[in-house]
Amino acid sequence: MNQMISDATRLVCTDTGRIGIEDPVAFLSRVAAYCETYDLPFEGTRSERLTITTEIGAIDMRASRDGLSVDLAAPNDGALHMLRETVATQLDLLDPARVSMLGWHGDIAHGRFPPNFRLATVLSVTALGRSFWRLEVDGDDLTPFAHGGLHLRLALPTRGASAAWPILNQRGRTEWPSPDDLHVAVYTVRSIDPVTSRTVIDIFRHAGGRTCDWISAARSGEEIGMIGPGGGWYPDADHLVIAGDETALPAIARILDHAAPDTTGTAIVEVNGAFDYPPLTVPPGMTLRILDRSQGSDLETALAEADLGADGARHVWFAAEKSRAAAVRHDLRARRGVARSESYVTGYWQKG
Ligand SMILES: Cc1cc2nc3c(=O)[nH]c(=O)nc-3n(C[C@H](O)[C@H](O)[C@H](O)COP(=O)(O)OP(=O)(O)OC[C@H]3O[C@@H](n4cnc5c(N)ncnc54)[C@H](O)[C@@H]3O)c2cc1C
Repeated sequence: MNQMISDATRLVCTDTGRIGIEDPVAFLSRVAAYCETYDLPFEGTRSERLTITTEIGAIDMRASRDGLSVDLAAPNDGALHMLRETVATQLDLLDPARVSMLGWHGDIAHGRFPPNFRLATVLSVTALGRSFWRLEVDGDDLTPFAHGGLHLRLALPTRGASAAWPILNQRGRTEWPSPDDLHVAVYTVRSIDPVTSRTVIDIFRHAGGRTCDWISAARSGEEIGMIGPGGGWYPDADHLVIAGDETALPAIARILDHAAPDTTGTAIVEVNGAFDYPPLTVPPGMTLRILDRSQGSDLETALAEADLGADGARHVWFAAEKSRAAAVRHDLRARRGVARSESYVTGYWQKG
């Protein structure tokens, strides 16, 4: 059940919940369909039991005569809170009338920050070439961001007003300030110091981005929020094919830093013009391809040419604009025989 929990963390925090749904089997089959669409790892399609196992823990849902019971197991309080939120969000999406009937047995804190939220202080913002800002932050306890997920959500308060942060409501759910008061966007922890927990985040500069605008005016000492971690861990395979655009570069750099020296495969990066991110360190058995979009090169062609490796020994990782990720996911599954368990294919941003 915990094979995805690759961070050697034990699932020491648990909770159980239940909800009186009339047709729990139908609900589970809709959850399974949702998991299929979003490539979430699950077992038990269209049955009376469904288990979703992610890097932050496991959700086990069982249909019974009087509804649905849910068992959660996570490595820490923050992750347990995220699992509760995942179940509630599923209900919001699939059966909104029932979400208020969801009850948990564990102690639900309220009126304070969610356990997966931390305040952090801006130490510095520096330009990395012409394409990226490098943000460095510090905080009281940022150590959770070093485990269990490569990514986080940055929460950037609107300047000039008193800062508004997410708070747990009476039901233990996170209540978010309005987007006018707090802008939230997903980024990657490029690196985190295991001792001081100083954290580095690299932000691609693109037109119209609220994060880019905020960061370009940031001053040392300003307070921001960090939520997470989440969104996938280091791929574990002998043969790695990893591809992405600028928004994926920080994740690609971190994954390559962490790759075993005997890893084989290909790393493919697509940028616009000359590559001006710090050099990537690639294991000797891997090839690095840097593609220039302005010269007509693209990730899809390079991926079609790449040796994807053998079943069971490979992992294919792809992140770029959402519609490109959807097409690549389809191609990998339908044409190249790459299973869901051997791949991570995700849209990192959306055009328009
Ligand atoms: C798991 C994950 C990890 C990520 N890690 C990183 C990271 O480490 N560094 C990083 O820079 N990004 C990363 N991203 C991508 C980042 O979340 C998006 O670029 C996001 O849109 C930025 O939010 P924003 O508030 O700046 O812009 P938004 O308010 O979301 O978007 C504003 C406008 O900018 C456009 N836009 C967004 N991204 C781009 C782009 N790349 N090129 C051109 N136009 C764009 C949108 O289409 C929209 O029109 C990651 C995304 C995910 C899902």
